Amino acid sequence: MRIALILLVNAAALTAQHNPGYTDTPKLPSGWRVHDSERPHPPVVDPGPAPAEPLPVPSDAIVLFDGRTLDAWEGNKGAAKWAVQDGYMEVNGTGDIHTKQEFGDCQLHVEWASPAEVKGDSQGRGNSGIFLLGRYEVQVLDSYENVTYADGQAAALYGQHPPLVNACRAPGQWQTYDIVFRAPRFKDDGALESPARVTVLHNGVLVQDAQEYWGPSAHRSLPHYEKHPSTGQLRLQDHGNPVHYRNIWIRPL
Ligand code: MG
Repeated sequence: MRIALILLVNAAALTAQHNPGYTDTPKLPSGWRVHDSERPHPPVVDPGPAPAEPLPVPSDAIVLFDGRTLDAWEGNKGAAKWAVQDGYMEVNGTGDIHTKQEFGDCQLHVEWASPAEVKGDSQGRGNSGIFLLGRYEVQVLDSYENVTYADGQAAALYGQHPPLVNACRAPGQWQTYDIVFRAPRFKDDGALESPARVTVLHNGVLVQDAQEYWGPSAHRSLPHYEKHPSTGQLRLQDHGNPVHYRNIWIRPL
C-alpha cells in the first residue's frame, strides 16, 4: 500500500515536471488554453555560439543601456536599483524597471543571459521579460532543456503565442533578441483599429513572424484590448531570478 502510494505520488510529480501548465484556463482564439499543458513545444534549434562581445550599435539608435549606467531607467518607486557590474545589469529583487522615455513602434535590440547556476525549473528558472509599451511581453526565460508551458517559454508572447522554434542558448551564455514592434491603434470610440504586432529574432533565428497580440499580456486569463496610448515605457520584469542584461538599444520607427 505504501509503495503504491509512493509510486502514485512520484507519477504525479513526474507529470507535473514534464507537463507544466494548466488544463482549466480559458481558450485563446487559437483553440489552445492559456498556458495549455497539452500544447506542443516548438522544435529546438541550435543558434550557434554566443557573441563574445556586445554586438555593434547602429549610429541612429537610442542607447538604453551601455553596460555602465541605469540613467535611462527608473523603478516603480524612484531610481532603478538593479545591480550594474562588469558591463551588465542584474535583476536583484528590487522590482521591475522601465525607461524614462516612452516609445511606440520600434526596433529593439536586447542582450540577456539566464543565470549560469541553474536553480528552479519551468517558470521559476531564469524568468524575466520585456514589456513593449509596458504591456506586451516578450518572455525571457531559461528555456535550455527546461520544460514549461509552450506559451511561457523564451521568446513566447506570454500567454498567447509560443515561439516558432526554441533557439535558446545554455544558461549563462549571452543571447540576443531583435524585436520589431508595432503598437496597436484604436479608433476614437475605443474600438481596435489594428492589433499590436511583433517580429522577434532570438539569437538571429526568426521566432515570431509579425505575430499579432490579442491584447496586453495576461497570466492565466484571456488577453483583451482596451484603448490606450500608442506609446509607453519599455519595462523589464523582475521575476525574482538574477537574469543579466547588456547592450539595449532602440530605434523608433
Ligand atoms: Mg516573464
